Amino acid sequence: MKILMASSEAVPFAKTGGLADAVSALSIALAKLGHEVKIAIPRYYNVDREPLTKLEGEMGVPVGGFEEWCAVYYTNMPGSPTKNPVEVFFIDHEIFFGRDGIYGTPSEPDFIDNPRRFTFFSRAVFQLCHKIRWFPDVVHAHDWPSALVPVYLKYALRNGPFEKTVSVLTIHNLGYQGVYHKDNFHYTGLGWNVFYEGGFEDWNMLNLLKAGIYSADRLNTVSETYCEETKQQAGGFRLDGPLRYRSANYRGILNGVDTDVWNPQKDSYIPKPFSAGELSGKAAAKAELQKFFGLAQDPDVPVIGMITRLTGQKGVGELFGPGYGSAYSICRDMNINFVVLGSGEAWCEHELQSLSSRLSNFRAVIGYKEELSHLIEAGSDFFLMPSRYEPCGLNQMYSLIYGTPPIVRRTGGLVDTVQNYDEATGGGTGFMFDDLTPQAIYNTVGWAVWAYYNRKEHIDAMRKRGMQHDFSWEKSAKKYVDMYKDAGVKKSAAQKTAAAIAPDSAPKKKTAEKRPSKK
Ligand code: ADP
Repeated sequence: MKILMASSEAVPFAKTGGLADAVSALSIALAKLGHEVKIAIPRYYNVDREPLTKLEGEMGVPVGGFEEWCAVYYTNMPGSPTKNPVEVFFIDHEIFFGRDGIYGTPSEPDFIDNPRRFTFFSRAVFQLCHKIRWFPDVVHAHDWPSALVPVYLKYALRNGPFEKTVSVLTIHNLGYQGVYHKDNFHYTGLGWNVFYEGGFEDWNMLNLLKAGIYSADRLNTVSETYCEETKQQAGGFRLDGPLRYRSANYRGILNGVDTDVWNPQKDSYIPKPFSAGELSGKAAAKAELQKFFGLAQDPDVPVIGMITRLTGQKGVGELFGPGYGSAYSICRDMNINFVVLGSGEAWCEHELQSLSSRLSNFRAVIGYKEELSHLIEAGSDFFLMPSRYEPCGLNQMYSLIYGTPPIVRRTGGLVDTVQNYDEATGGGTGFMFDDLTPQAIYNTVGWAVWAYYNRKEHIDAMRKRGMQHDFSWEKSAKKYVDMYKDAGVKKSAAQKTAAAIAPDSAPKKKTAEKRPSKK
């Protein structure tokens, strides 16, 4: 299959969260299965043009009744198979993307022209296909920034070279929808009938993700449990109705893990490799971690680790909220070390620094540090993730692979990846709780710490059990291929039915167009 990914993020070029990891790793896994995969992303200011190749000429993109002009650069995705590389195409528009920040900056978290920037990008994806004379079987959009891709396909470009193209939209986080003033709709160049018919309208505002949900041939999110949660009012962020409406074509597919990067047997960021059969490297990582944070190097004291965006979604209010969160009493009452790596909301960064100065067994590093994140996963005894909601979650999967039983709230992808500890049998891979309250976090951390001191054999067995998990992307990529096939088969069946019922209104079959398979 020819698959075009349209995304605002892809590692190693642009990342704010798990979306970037997923897009690149899925693309590479699909290429390894033999599919032809290309990725389109904006060229942000931080992406150096120097090592990239420029496509000849400029590219005109029709938006809002006129044309925007941009350049296109490309390169091969690092880590993709040499015989079938994933090509990454950068849409280079200086005014929209030649600035610091992907969606915004600390002082302007959501750029005022974001609806224009990403409308332009979504439309540019199709122009790119014309420019490289390559027309995909599947366009796969991700989250609100490229949610207009399925809309353009459905309402503006269904005929011609994209006649057989199907669209898929993956929701990585329903909490971000791209909701803006409806005046921005003009910029799409679509008729106002589409504003209502296409599902853009949202309490008289413009909702880009909602339009994508209405238009994509197939939808998915990144775990089965989160898929179910988003169809209910409590987890649906006001889009539970549209998602229920699309439920026949909406599913959950768990993200995988890039096992070349996250693998304790060949991780260059940890002092010594380790595996389920040979855990001495884990003890070395723990000693190194304690040393890094200036804690006493005591192998018998359990270390609780955490790596997170410091935002309400991750349960940081219940853990670190001043005078409310349970982190202080956890550290005061339990013989543990607690280490945190994170960046995000200013109040929380400040509170982490304050806790570090008040508690001898609590340490935090503020910032985004890839290398340290590996050491925390490897050197901790438990990994804490009290998420309010979690579409998939990567850190709990990393911690399982690194023999670090996670302590998690029973929500979304955490339900699909962690099995709760059973005191009677010693079964399970982690510790789970239901209520997002400071008390529940306190109790569950206390439960894990109790097991650490009193049921050592259970913890050892849990570590090893967790390390056996197969979170490879290959498994998930095959499910995406099934979804693509499903979208293609169902669509042509629907077109045939439409043609049989109303031959005049059905799309006319065009004479075959010359389509070189490679640019
Ligand atoms: P989300 O995408 O909601 O932030 P995930 O658990 O799915 O959460 O993915 C987060 C990714 O970002 C993981 O790879 C995690 O290790 C990484 N990460 C988050 N914060 C930091 C940080 N401060 N330093 C290093 N890596 C981080």
